[in-house]
Amino acid sequence: MGKVLVIGAGGVASVAVNKMAQNPSVFTSIKIASRTKWKCDRLAADVASRTGYNGITTAQVDADNVDELVRLFEDYRPDIVVNLALPYQDLTIMEACLQTGCNYLDTANYEPKDEAHFEYSWQWAYRERFEKAGLTAILGCGFDPGVTSIYTAYAAKHHFNEIQYLDIVDCNAGDHHKAFATNFNPEINIREITQKGLYWENGQWVETEPLEIHKDLTYPEIGPRDSYLLHHEEIESLVINYPTIKRARFWMTFGQQYLKHLEVIQNIGMSRIDEIEYEAPLADGTGTAKVKIVPLQFLKAVLPNPQELGENYEGQTSIGCRIRGIGKDGKEHTYYVYNNCSHRAAYEETGMQGVSYTTGVPAMIGAMLFLQGAWVKPGVRNVEEFDPDPFMEQLNSQGLPWHELHDVDLEL
Ligand code: NDP
Repeated sequence: MGKVLVIGAGGVASVAVNKMAQNPSVFTSIKIASRTKWKCDRLAADVASRTGYNGITTAQVDADNVDELVRLFEDYRPDIVVNLALPYQDLTIMEACLQTGCNYLDTANYEPKDEAHFEYSWQWAYRERFEKAGLTAILGCGFDPGVTSIYTAYAAKHHFNEIQYLDIVDCNAGDHHKAFATNFNPEINIREITQKGLYWENGQWVETEPLEIHKDLTYPEIGPRDSYLLHHEEIESLVINYPTIKRARFWMTFGQQYLKHLEVIQNIGMSRIDEIEYEAPLADGTGTAKVKIVPLQFLKAVLPNPQELGENYEGQTSIGCRIRGIGKDGKEHTYYVYNNCSHRAAYEETGMQGVSYTTGVPAMIGAMLFLQGAWVKPGVRNVEEFDPDPFMEQLNSQGLPWHELHDVDLEL
């Protein structure tokens, strides 16, 4: 049915390509391109041995370089480019898509490398150009952002006349048996968590100190976990697309051990994203040279690789939306829709842990719905702008089943 080009060969890409290969009638041709070609080759071989899908091709590309991307896209001519590299590459990949007439999907919004700040304005600025070119760009199609916005769209379509209060709750109750590790790219993860908190209330943004607000929330099959209010990108588009929302917040759980390490990392300057000068020994042992390093990038090099956490990961994630508003019957209702994902089951199926799994599966479903024609809408669009029904149906059959609770205590 369609040709897909996946950019990136990390944890999320590994899951997405495995799942694409499990749906060969939709993904009739797959190419993986990333900065390090051997990682693409290793992934193609792993997918072939797990699924029997042979013939995945690979390429080396620097996705910061538009000209290199254009050459690759012109050569392969994909129907859709699935960007599973880092948020830094979003704009260059979108630009190359426009220059070559390719459609686009990603899982995280653009961030400049030198500023720990994310917002959609940079990508929304491409709206008109995608629309005029008749191309679809699907933004934020992982779990959060991604499924959480689709849950919200589904609630608005089937259960509520007015969504008034939205709390997105993200719990990772897994244990990887490491003193400290992040579940996806450490640089992106630590930048996100050390930012100031932000939420939407009564028509305006309210800022908090990093991790200032927290409370115990009870997660299905897990129990109570301390949950911290963070700024998260999907809130930005949801409050625009659902203007009846009076308050929207995002909560994520952290254990004391994780927070203790994070505090030390910050206090000793290892979370800095500016360049520092460092006297480094030369590889040939002939002396030293002054080099510039970014402490957070150096830290990434010594932390556990999130892709290697899967083997000993126990427990599960639980991510969902807790919603209060006016139901289709005109009365006030509450609603909780969520998925629980087992790290072990994810690892057994794809070789990756639950956080990569919960991101890679929705990215595959988004690309699938585009290729099947259900999610074709020229322009640059957040996932809640598409019909949630076919996506919710696929979640159930592709490994991320969801559950609904009506009129329960939301604790918030
Ligand atoms: P990884 O670090 O595991 O993988 C990133 C991949 O991108 C690597 O293969 C890396 O190559 C490649 N890459 C980096 N820079 C370039 C470049 N300039 N050119 C080409 N390739 C490049 O990250 P994850 O798989 O954990 O995360 C992937 C994306 O998913 C991120 O954007 C992350 O923010 C997002 N995410 C979204 C979530 C959601 O729910 N929406 C949740 C979790 C993650 P190399 O190995 O050579 O460096």
